[in-house]
Amino acid sequence: MARGYNLDSRPAHQQRRGNLKQGEDWIRDLITRLPLGYFATRWDDQPFVHPMTFVYAVDKHCIYMHGSTVGRRRANTDAHEKMCFCASQMGQLLPSNQALNFSAQYRSVMAFGTVRLVAEEAEQKVALYALIDKYFPPLKLDSDYSPIRPEDLKRTAVYALDIDNWSGKENWKERTDMDDRGWPELDEKYFEPDIFAMSRGRVKGE
Ligand SMILES: Cc1cc2nc3c(=O)[nH]c(=O)nc-3n(C[C@H](O)[C@H](O)[C@H](O)COP(=O)(O)OP(=O)(O)OC[C@H]3O[C@@H](n4cnc5c(N)ncnc54)[C@H](O)[C@@H]3O)c2cc1C
Repeated sequence: MARGYNLDSRPAHQQRRGNLKQGEDWIRDLITRLPLGYFATRWDDQPFVHPMTFVYAVDKHCIYMHGSTVGRRRANTDAHEKMCFCASQMGQLLPSNQALNFSAQYRSVMAFGTVRLVAEEAEQKVALYALIDKYFPPLKLDSDYSPIRPEDLKRTAVYALDIDNWSGKENWKERTDMDDRGWPELDEKYFEPDIFAMSRGRVKGE
């Protein structure tokens, strides 16, 4: 077996190298601010990834998401309750004058846990209003938008990923390593912010 991970002897959230590892408060702050999460499920041995909006609930230490009552998410999560989640931010692309050292600024959170279809109406509403508050903060219930009705809840499945453990990682240095064998230095223009089209996770051409 390749050197690295054996989940029987090492927890899933334990990082190989500790120097980029982040603490609980950092993780809680970042997960609250990130807009898009990827939830990994499976159908038997077929892996699947769901990109979704989400909201982290501090009191229950869970991640809520919602969607259709049918489909792959429902089928996969009915069959396998274990789930992995990741959300991240990409910063500047970091050029180098050595192929080995090209890099990118990033910060990310990964969580492992058990997914639960939220059954209680009260918790469903908490989750759905929390999602609206996260993404549309100026808009207010009862003044800007109407409340959730019982029939709305029949059309939406609300899920909670109850977190067993999580990890945070940040690599946000200003510059990456350069060639130490005398290769010519890169032109300073390549170190200007956003000089590369995909810096900060932007979509090329937009
Ligand atoms: C930025 C973003 C945010 C989203 N937020 C939400 C959300 O909050 N709630 C929500 O319900 N959905 C959201 N979606 C859509 C979500 O990713 C799924 O497409 C949707 O939830 C249907 O999932 P399902 O498991 O029922 O898939 P199904 O429709 O049952 O999947 C059938 C097949 O469709 C294809 N497929 C499914 N989803 C995608 C996809 N996203 N991209 C490409 N192919 C796909 C796959 O080949 C899959 O095997 C979001 C997508 C993006 C990109």
